[in-house]
Formats: sequence, structure tokens, C-alpha cells
Amino acid sequence: MDLFEYQARDIFEKHGVPVLGGIVATTPDEARAAAEQLGGGTVVVKAQVKTGGRGKAGGVKLAHNPDEAAEKAGQILGMDIKGHTVHRVMIAAGAKIAEEFYFSLLLDRAERRYLAMASVEGGMDIEQLAVERPEALARVAVDPQVGIDDAKAREIAQTAGFPAEITDAVADVFVKLWGVYKGEDATLVEVNPLVRTEDGQIVALDGKVTLDENAEFRHAEHGGLEDAAAADPLEARAKEKGLNYVKLDGAVGIIGNGAGLVMSTLDVVAYAGEEHGGVKPANFLDIGGGASAEVMANGLEIILSDPQVKSVFVNVFGGITACDAVANGIVQALEMLGDKETKPLVVRLDGNSVVEGRAILEAAAHPLVTLADTMDGAAAKAAELANA
Ligand code: GDP
Ligand code: MN
Repeated sequence: MDLFEYQARDIFEKHGVPVLGGIVATTPDEARAAAEQLGGGTVVVKAQVKTGGRGKAGGVKLAHNPDEAAEKAGQILGMDIKGHTVHRVMIAAGAKIAEEFYFSLLLDRAERRYLAMASVEGGMDIEQLAVERPEALARVAVDPQVGIDDAKAREIAQTAGFPAEITDAVADVFVKLWGVYKGEDATLVEVNPLVRTEDGQIVALDGKVTLDENAEFRHAEHGGLEDAAAADPLEARAKEKGLNYVKLDGAVGIIGNGAGLVMSTLDVVAYAGEEHGGVKPANFLDIGGGASAEVMANGLEIILSDPQVKSVFVNVFGGITACDAVANGIVQALEMLGDKETKPLVVRLDGNSVVEGRAILEAAAHPLVTLADTMDGAAAKAAELANA
């Protein structure tokens, strides 16, 4: 999960990384009040969108007093930056910048460790710098077992060529940024710019943090960080029910067990759809191994409430949970849904106890359910029904 800059700022502050005051505003009036709260002097009005290059897009503006902050907020709110609409700005205390540096720490999957990158030429042109003069961007491997201790922090600062007189201060900030990375289970912590102010302070002026969602169970406090407004409502409901669901744009709802099977089902349906008016899969939904009636009902309920869905393809390969259990699950799910089930269902069962599973569905003889023998046949039938 990517965080907004203001969320990264708050997390930095929690771990002792030096930041300036920042207050979120959603209207020009709130921006004026925030600027007053920060002392009434110069502030920076910053678009809060989860994309880089806000400065170049006009989403970061200096304001010399609260009225000007309101005016600049009015210009930035509602702006579109690379497809992201600006719903909030952060009013940040202004800094007098002497130098802009760059620091990031990320997961290096290929090397199975972390990678720290730093440069004394930070700021808005870092991407260009990385391409044109990669030697100006120091890359230092970080052992996950050790992290960034004082020695490693100094190594990073020295490799990047930070001035000797600020090595102590910069190294201290790197160690604290490691605290953020490790303590919050991040996969990316980036600070650009990390600045030296005219009065010699080292301050993180912009932060980008990506949290590892696999570590969510360790961080109840991260729950509130999610951008509920941006989440798809069906995906949000699916998540509440613990379903592995991704909304797509097509008309054929998909339920399967096992991520690999569901992925290939999406392909097969898209392919079959070419013969049937170009219909496409409406979602990814993996109900996993032990597909109980309740999980099947929850999954069906989410898919059927998608108005774009015209037919549903249930593709199950019986393994540990055999086909008869899955078939019972489908029958019970249809009973639980009752009148909510209004769209045709194509079911393909294979694997363990397939004969028993089919017999159960045949005996139930639900008017909306079609049994198919093969995956290709089922995909073609579901596509045909969606296009009818
Ligand atoms: P980004 O373009 O999305 O990375 O947004 P940043 O937060 O990095 O801001 C872009 C640029 O605005 C920075 O590189 C700074 O040069 C400038 N900037 C940001 N905050 C301040 C500030 O408090 N004072 C001054 N003078 N400039 C700032
Ligand atoms: Mn930046």
C-alpha cells in the first residue's frame, strides 16, 4: 500500500525523522486556517496524490501568507496530476533550502536484501540523474539482518559524497529512516528532497512510503491509512469478507479455486469472448482451497451485485476439498442467495469426486445453472450467455 505524503510525514515524525509541520486541508478556507496555525508565515501548499512529479506538474506552490495559501490551495485542489485528482493538499511549514539531497531504501528481491540509494543531487530531476549520470547516485547494499546501523549510515553518506560536516546529522537521519522501514514493515522509504536548510538543519521535506500488505496483521494501527475513497466499492466489500477479489471491466463473473486456475480462467474467457461480441471477464475471484458454502455464497453475492456481470463461470478443480463438497457448497449458496440469484451460472467441475459433484448439481436442477464438461466449453457457454 502506497501512502500519501502527509501520512509518510506523520510516520517519519513518530520515528524521530526531522520533518516540518504539516496540516491537511480539503478547501481553501481550511488551507488558510492551517497556514495561520503554522504561524502565519511562508508555507508550501502541496497536492496530496499518490504519484511523483507533483512539483513539475504545478502541484507544489509557495505561499507567503494565509490568504495566499488559500488562493494556491484553490488552484491545486481539483487539479489532475497524471490521472490523479487532487482531493487534499498539505499545508507545510516553509523551509529555506540550501541544498537538496536524495535518499531511498527499498527491497532488492533479486539479491534478497535491501538497497539504499543516496545522492547529493536530489530534487525534482532525480529520475533524469539516475539515467544520465548513474554514478552520481550511490547504491549501497543493506543486509536485512543488520539494517542501517551507524556504520552503514556513514558508509551510505560517504559513498554518496555528503559534505563531511553534515555526515553525523545525515547518518543519524538514515538510521531513523531505517527505523521507519523496519518498524512499519515498509518495502520502500524514499525522501526527495532531504534538505539542508540555510540554518544547517537536515529535514525530510517529501516522503514516499510503501507498506508491505503481507505484514498488515502486525499493524492494527495501519488500518486507518487506507484511501477508502479510492477503493472500488465491490473490492472493499470483498476485502471485508476476506475474499481475494479484483474487479475488472467485463461481463463474465469468475469464481475459481486457486490463483493459477483463476488466472487461466480469465485468459480462456477472454479468448472465448472473441467469438461472442468481445465479452471479457468481470473479475478475479479465488475462493481458495476449502471452499465452504458460505465462502461460495459470499463470492457469488459480490459478483452478482456487479451490474456489469451478465453471466457467471464457476470453475473448480477438486483437490483437498473434493467436487462433492464444492457442489454442495454451490447448492447451499444458491439457497442462501434465493431471489438475489438472477444471472445464469455455468459450472465446470473436475478432479476429486467429480462424478459425485456433478450428480449433486444435476439432482438440484437449478434453472439458472448449466453444467459444462470442459473448461473451454464452459468459457464459451458463459461468454455466449453474457452476450445474449
Ligand atoms: P514532488 O515534485 O512530487 O517530488 O514534490 P516535493 O515535495 O519533492 O516538492 C518539489 C520541490 O518543491 C522540492 O524539490 C523543493 O525544491 C520544493 N519545495 C518543497 N517544499 C519546500 C519548502 O518548504 N520550501 C521551499 N523553498 N521549497 C520547497
Ligand atoms: Mn519529491
